[in-house]
Amino acid sequence: MNWGLIGASTIAAQHMIGAIRSCQNNTIASVLSANRKRGADFAKAHGIEHSTTDLDILLSQPDLDVVYISTTNEKHKSQALAAIAAGKHVLCEKPLAMTTDDAIEMVQAAEKSGVILATNHHLRNAGSHLKIKQLINAGQIGKIQAVRVFHAVYLPVSLQGWRINNPAAGGGVIPDIVVHDADTIGFHLEEYPISVIAEETSGQLGQGVEDSVMSVWKMPSGAMVQTHEGFTLRHAETGIEFHGTDGSIIARNVMTQSPVGTVQLRTSHGVKEIGFSDHNLYARSVEMFTKSILGQGQPAATGRDGIRSLAVATAVKHAATTATRTLVNYGGH
Ligand code: NDP
Repeated sequence: MNWGLIGASTIAAQHMIGAIRSCQNNTIASVLSANRKRGADFAKAHGIEHSTTDLDILLSQPDLDVVYISTTNEKHKSQALAAIAAGKHVLCEKPLAMTTDDAIEMVQAAEKSGVILATNHHLRNAGSHLKIKQLINAGQIGKIQAVRVFHAVYLPVSLQGWRINNPAAGGGVIPDIVVHDADTIGFHLEEYPISVIAEETSGQLGQGVEDSVMSVWKMPSGAMVQTHEGFTLRHAETGIEFHGTDGSIIARNVMTQSPVGTVQLRTSHGVKEIGFSDHNLYARSVEMFTKSILGQGQPAATGRDGIRSLAVATAVKHAATTATRTLVNYGGH
């Protein structure tokens, strides 16, 4: 596949360029930046032949098959729709868009055009989460009663830009992290919340956006979910716990970008440390996306998965700002 990068971003530089190139026969032809010099510098630093500030020029590069969108969130929709209209497959960063309706429009456009639109939710690609899912599916902890997620750490100084001060660009910890937690829990439980309640705070890092949120979700199965996302905790680690009628899965340091952490299974037989693969999360996302284009299965996280995670985050935001129990509106998805 011949890729175009839409966005000269940190995630592209730190994770995705390597992940794209780690898959056989993938090349990166061009990068789009709103700033000519940043684009040219980015292209040079990453060995990309071409850079442009014009999306139409990027999309008209000969033999371009795929675009990866990692601009700030408010740009995802228009860039994805343009790429889809040009017949390109799209791997789009989360959140897919600023609103669930916009994400639905993107997914419907891709379906109509016969191209693949996938969401780059990395966590469901982690060896730790794939192993947790295997344990749950094998019935090792019985019927799940409760899930707790801790995804509140300290936002690196290098990322303390639009995320903490620009709501119009999709800043705030809810669009940034709640979408990941919604996707991860949806992946494990194969269900998404009916309703949520939530509280948010701001003021330590957040300027006009929330920098911490806690929420409780009611799931169709009756399981309860409790989540905490934040940008401000300097000494915390991430984790996820699944508590069932026959056991618990306790995972630490697994809500991360690296293939690290621990997974423990606790049952009446005792406590067992569970091993898992340490493959690159983003490389698996790219590989499954690429295979899906070739007709081999589905992307790890589809466009519809991106709609659902955004719908949950949108409901959490509404619940937190209105102090009301909020039904999640998936728009039929
Ligand atoms: P960045 O802030 O690094 O990049 C976003 C945009 O900011 C870029 O497209 C670029 O615009 C602009 N930009 C980059 N560097 C500078 C600079 N030095 N000065 C001014 N502008 C700059 O964001 P992230 O890489 O952290 O996030 C991008 C997207 O990826 C978001 O949608 C985010 O939610 C998602 N993301 C997903 C992750 C995952 O694990 N799935 C992890 C991290 C982010 P231009 O392209 O015009 O040059």
